[in-house]
Amino acid sequence: MLFREVIGQETIKRDLRETVALNRVAHAYLFTGPEGSGKLPLALAYAQYLNCEHPTETDSCGECPSCKAYAKLQHPDLHFVFPIVKLPKSKECCDDYLPEWRELFAQNPYISLEMWQNHIGVENKQPIIYESEATGIGEGDKKQKGIIQKLSMTNYSAKYKVMIIWMAEKMNETCANKILKILEEPSPDTKFLMISEDTRNMLPTILSRTQIVRIPKIDDESLRQRIHDDFMIEGDELQSLIKNANGNYIQAFKMASSDDTPSQFFTMFTQLMRWAWQKDLLALNRLSEELDSLGREKQKSFLQYCLREVRENFIRNQNIPQILYMDNQENAFSEKFHTFINERNVAGFTKELNLAYYHVVRNGTSKIIFFDLFLKMIVLLRK
Ligand SMILES: [Zn+2]
Repeated sequence: MLFREVIGQETIKRDLRETVALNRVAHAYLFTGPEGSGKLPLALAYAQYLNCEHPTETDSCGECPSCKAYAKLQHPDLHFVFPIVKLPKSKECCDDYLPEWRELFAQNPYISLEMWQNHIGVENKQPIIYESEATGIGEGDKKQKGIIQKLSMTNYSAKYKVMIIWMAEKMNETCANKILKILEEPSPDTKFLMISEDTRNMLPTILSRTQIVRIPKIDDESLRQRIHDDFMIEGDELQSLIKNANGNYIQAFKMASSDDTPSQFFTMFTQLMRWAWQKDLLALNRLSEELDSLGREKQKSFLQYCLREVRENFIRNQNIPQILYMDNQENAFSEKFHTFINERNVAGFTKELNLAYYHVVRNGTSKIIFFDLFLKMIVLLRK
C-alpha cells in the first residue's frame, strides 16, 4: 500500500513520514479511529515505507522487491494477527486464514469486522484473537508459530519485522497479557502496529506501551474525489452519498456499489415518520419485517441515514441553512416535517437511533430492535 493510495488523512501521513525523517519511529503504535477511516491502509503504507529500499520524501517507491511483496501482503517479515473463528483441524490460527485475508484485502483494503466475518462465512459468530496467537499452536512439524516466536526470528530481508494486529480490541486477555513483555522489550528491528476501533476494552498496560495515533474520519473532499474517480458518480447523487457516508469509506463504497440505497432509505424514512405519527402499528410492524430482511449492513446504513435526517431537519428547524444539506426529494419532504424535530426530542431521537445501531452491530434480533425503536418514535414525535 502506498501513502498516495490511502484516501485523505494528509496530516497523519505527514506525521508518519516525519517519524522516519527525524529517526523517531516508535517500536509500537496503536492506530485508533472510526470504521472506514483507513487505519489498516495507513498502517500498511507506513510499514511499507519503513521497509522500502528507495523511499522518496513522500512515499514508498512501489518498485523495489520489498514494496512488491508488501503490495501482495506476502513479505516474509510482515506478520498479521486478526480475529478468527477456530474451525477444528482446518482453521486454527491466523496463518490458516491468510489466503482469505489477502483475498479480501485485494478486493478492498478498507475492511470492517463485518466484511471479514462475511468473507470467511462466520456471520453469526464473534471472531476473537486467541491466546494461541501469542504462543503458537500445535506440536513438532505441525507447530504454527505465534507472535512471540515470529518476532524472535531473524529478519529474512527487511529492515524491520512488522507485526500488524488488526482489531486489537478483540484480543482475549490471556493473549494480551502474553504479548506484554515483548511489547515492552521488543528487539530493535521489530515494529508493532496495532489497529483498533474501540480501545475501551483493551488492557491499559497494552495501551500505555504504545504510541497512540488517532485517525479521524476521512474529510468529505477526499472521499468525494475517490468515489467520483472510482464509481463515476456525480452531482446530487455524489453529494448525498458523501453526506451519508460521514467520512467512512466502507460506507461510501457500499452505497456507491449498490444502486438502490439512497432512495430506498428515503422512502422508508418517510414511511416510518408518517406511520409513527399516525400510530399505525401494523404498518410499522411490516416495516420492521422489511428491514429485518435487508441484512445487517443495510440495517446499519439505514440507521445512519435516519440519524442524518434527524440532524438535517433539526438544523432546518433552527434555521441555519448554511450548514444544511438535503437533496431535492429530502428537501420537499422536510418542508413540513422539519417542525417535528425540535429541542425537546432531538436528543431522544439521536439516543434511540444510536442504541438501535449498537444492538444491530451486536447481533440483536433486528425485527425486535426496529419495532422497539418505532414505538419510541411514536412518543418522541409528540414531544
Ligand atoms: Zn520500495
